[in-house]
Amino acid sequence: MNKTLQKYRKKSGTSTKTDSFVHSLNVYRMAKTQVFTTVASLQNHLSEVAKKSTVGFVPTMGALHSGHVSLVKASSKQCDFTVVSIFVNPTQFNNSSDLEKYPRDFDKDISLLEASGGAIVFAPTVDEMYPEGHQPKRMELGRVANIMEGEFRPGHFDGVVEVVYRFLEIVNPTHTYFGEKDLQQLSIVRHMVKEFNLPVEVVGCETHRLEGGLAASSRNERLTKDQKEKALILYQSLDRVRAEKESYGPREAREKIKEWFQDSELELEYIEFVDATTFEDVTEWTVHTHGCIAAFAGQVRLLDNISMV
Ligand code: AMP
Repeated sequence: MNKTLQKYRKKSGTSTKTDSFVHSLNVYRMAKTQVFTTVASLQNHLSEVAKKSTVGFVPTMGALHSGHVSLVKASSKQCDFTVVSIFVNPTQFNNSSDLEKYPRDFDKDISLLEASGGAIVFAPTVDEMYPEGHQPKRMELGRVANIMEGEFRPGHFDGVVEVVYRFLEIVNPTHTYFGEKDLQQLSIVRHMVKEFNLPVEVVGCETHRLEGGLAASSRNERLTKDQKEKALILYQSLDRVRAEKESYGPREAREKIKEWFQDSELELEYIEFVDATTFEDVTEWTVHTHGCIAAFAGQVRLLDNISMV
């Protein structure tokens, strides 16, 4: 890989300046994978190869792991072609240090995709995604965007709507795959697709977990071995409540989890039991109840949720 491409890769997803030379490399090949960096080159390719085919689209921010792979596999099983985007979207970060520290490893991402059967990669720069004059798509999101992730990351879901709408416009897939790990995001994407009547099927995929139940996440890369073990409390506390739920209700469960976190080294940000269809708090267990949790292990913010059924 030449120096200019390495420079490009550092800039990918975070660049705010246009690099004309890099933009001239609008498509290149890494091992067996074709990487498209411009909208025009990707659309040109898809119009040639995927005319009457089903196209699955998996948006990611890179630092790929087994959770992303499960989405890619679901798409490859269902669709003729799979497009994976790798783009660290600045508009969904409300904290610039979180954006800067977000892990990036493009070579590893490509290797993992190849080992998982391959995909078409779309890795645009910020300028390509949001050219001058770009008008972000906005919609009224209601309660789901104002609680939990929405409350602690103000503006996050506006950024999600902006980037997902733009990607769907560019890729025009028949199917798009999102993880249930980001429960509010999945609900918002479904809502957006309905609201704007977009011709795409949104497929929700189960949370992929590592040993002990820790949800696979790009942010796990930033955890020490010890923190990874301690981070098991996110899943394990929800799982324990699920196992004991005949003995107490959601309100008491919240208090118990708060206590368990006080004895741990993680800092709990929120623990909520909500109806996953309305995102209202629940006072009794129902088939729709999900336990949703966010906590910090050191500087690293971790997120999880499970169905309480
Ligand atoms: P991200 O790169 O974190 O923006 O995630 C890209 C997609 O992968 C989103 O739809 C996430 O919900 C999904 N995802 C992330 N982690 C997991 C996981 N452990 N299991 C399943 N899907 C996941």
